[in-house]
Parts: sequence; structure tokens; C-alpha cells
Amino acid sequence: MLHRFGSPATTALNGGRYFGFVNGGALPSALAARLLADVWDQNAALHVMSPIAAKLESLCERWLVDLFDLPGRTAMGLVSGTSLATLCGLLAGRDAILRRLGWDASERGLFGAPPLRLVMSEAAHITVRKALAILGIGRAQLEIVAADEQGRFDAAALPPLDERTILILQAGNVNSGAFDPFEPLCRAAKAARAWVHIDGAFGLWARACESTADLTAGIELADSWSVDAHKTLNAPYDCGIALCRDRAAMVSALGATASYLQFGDERDGMLYTPEMSRRARGIELWAALKSLGRAGINQLVAQLCQRARQFAAELDAEGFRILSEVVFNQVLVACDPPAITARTLELLQASGECWCGSAEWRGETAIRISVCSWVTSEADISRSVAAFVAARGRASAEGARQ
Ligand SMILES: *Cc1c(COP(=O)(O)O)cnc(C)c1O
Repeated sequence: MLHRFGSPATTALNGGRYFGFVNGGALPSALAARLLADVWDQNAALHVMSPIAAKLESLCERWLVDLFDLPGRTAMGLVSGTSLATLCGLLAGRDAILRRLGWDASERGLFGAPPLRLVMSEAAHITVRKALAILGIGRAQLEIVAADEQGRFDAAALPPLDERTILILQAGNVNSGAFDPFEPLCRAAKAARAWVHIDGAFGLWARACESTADLTAGIELADSWSVDAHKTLNAPYDCGIALCRDRAAMVSALGATASYLQFGDERDGMLYTPEMSRRARGIELWAALKSLGRAGINQLVAQLCQRARQFAAELDAEGFRILSEVVFNQVLVACDPPAITARTLELLQASGECWCGSAEWRGETAIRISVCSWVTSEADISRSVAAFVAARGRASAEGARQ
């Protein structure tokens, strides 16, 4: 029944012409490791529950800190995705700031706590707002800074920061792929003793690629980072990574204990995540990192960016308008005239040739392309561009008949 009714109702996320949202494909090595982990049915809460899960999480932590070139003692927690990883980073930041102000949030709660300031750009991802709401930080507490025409934090508009502030930055705007100017912003935050969190769901991987690492200059100055393994790295769902410079702050925010739990000297994964029982995501994450290696990751990220540039160049040559600079794996495109963009997208989605989503970009409807799968080839891009041209042709013919 599952195959008969289920398979036709799936989406070919793991095909080469799926460009929706920022959904990565699945590396065969990681997928196979995941299947094995599920057959083992490991629970990654404690070392005694699964020594292998604990060991591979420790290795992943070390490798990722190295790969992203973060401060040496940075701690890692594995969660379902960046939504939760961001929550972890902001929680650690919230509690660390309150503690500095003489308020122990785990003891006294949030009612009556000294107010914090939250500074972020208008282009911050929706999951950041959701995390803040969960953390008891209301919309009225947010200081929203304008984004520039590429969707980057406008550093000139940064308000004065202080030690009560959490500054939230972004590596990879979900539409344009743009990176915030980390260097000046992080330096200002450091000088003011503010906490910096970086949402790098797909963009933090730029750091692991020679040709894009410059985009992330300065992120090492931040305090916490969130990133997905299931996007750019192409690990299977669900695999999010929370990273925090101050290991003690992370454990104090997320750790919990009870007499029946057996903690040890080895890594106990539950100390770094909101959950206790968890799938052993470290196993497939380890497999993805191990099978690709540093060179393979460099190559994967470079390839995604290169295909995105190819997509933009071929669409441009066909008379489509590219709406933002292609700096990473995202492309925003519209038709000329703009009135037929939405219908073109509808026909494109119905064609089955490729799949793209849409977004509003600076007041107009854009077709939104995310090149995020290791499978996508040059031929996939060209075939998709042909589908764009065909869809636009039908959309304008319909327009002419009306
Ligand atoms: C995808 C994404 C998120 C949310 O990540 P999930 O893994 O879906 O929870 C957050 N921020 C950005 C920039 C993203 O692209």
C-alpha cells in the first residue's frame, strides 16, 4: 500500500532537477549509514546507550570545528534542523547574558528578568523569529535593521550595541543567498560584549570551500552558529547542527540530570540538545564527512555554486532577468514582462521537468532557484532552462490570446 499510494505522492527531492526551497539531496554514503543506524536502533542520549553514536558525534564535533575554522573549544549539538539549532544558540546566549547581569534564568525564570535587546535584520529567516518567540522574547523587543538591495544586513544602520544585546546575523539569505558583512558587525559586537548568533543553515558551508570562504570572513568572532547537514552537505533528513563557542554556556542552558541517568567521561549527547532520546544523527553525519573528506566537501560546495552561476547565465542569455547577485547556490529570476512570471512558474511546476518555488523580492514575484543537490549536472541545468523557456512561451501565448 505504501508503495502503491505513497510513492506517487512523493517529491523527487533526490533528483537532479529539484530546485525548491533549500532542500539538499542525500549522499548514498550517508543514506546507507543512516539505514544501518536505524537497523541498530541507537539512542544517542547517553554514551552508555550507544558508545558508537557518542564516539561519532565527538568526531563530527572536532571535524566541523576544524572545517568551519571555529574557536578550538566550540561545542556541537545535533538536532533536527537549523530551526532547533538556532533555538539552542539563542538560548545559550540569552542565559549567558542574563547570568552576566546577575540573573540565573534556570533558577529564577524569565519573569522579572532584566530586559535583553535583540538586533537582527529585516531579512532574518522566519525560524529565527519562531525561536525568539519560544524563548520568551517578544516582537516589541526586536530591533530590526534594514537589509540592503541584496538582502544583506546594512552595517551602516547598526544601532549601538551593549552587553545586553544578542545580534543575529545570517550566512546565506534564504532567497538571494547573500551573506551579511560579518567582520565589521562581529567586531562591533565584540567591543560591546554582545552575543552574536549566526544562522548559516546552508551558507555556513561556504566556509569549507576555497572559492567561497571569503564570504564568511569574521564568523569566527561569533558566539554561536546554526547550520544544516541536510542542506548543502547533502546528508539525509533530519540533521541540524548547533555550535557554541562557550561549551559551559551551552551545557548549562541545555543540560539536565537525574539519578537514573548515567553520565560518563565520554560524550553524552543529550547535554547539548533540548531532547533526551534522539536518533543517532551523528552516524550519517560522520559518513557524509568521512566519505567526502575536506577535498570532497570543497568540491561539492564549489559545484553547487558553479551550477547556480550556469543556471543564471543561461537564463540571462534567454532573456530572463536575474534579480540579485549570484554569490552562492541561490538564483532569483523573473520574466520580462513581470506580469507573466507567476504563470510561467505555474507551468514550469506542472511540466515535471524541474521544480522551483517562488518568493517576493523587492516588490516583485520571483522564481526562486536553489541548487542544492550533489546529483545536479550541467545537463540538468540546461534541460531546466529549456523548460523555463517553454513555460514562458506558453505563458506569453496565453497572455496574447486574452
Ligand atoms: C532552511 C533554513 C532555516 C531552517 O532550517 P530547518 O533545517 O528547516 O529547520 C533557517 N535559516 C535559513 C537561512 C534557512 O535556509
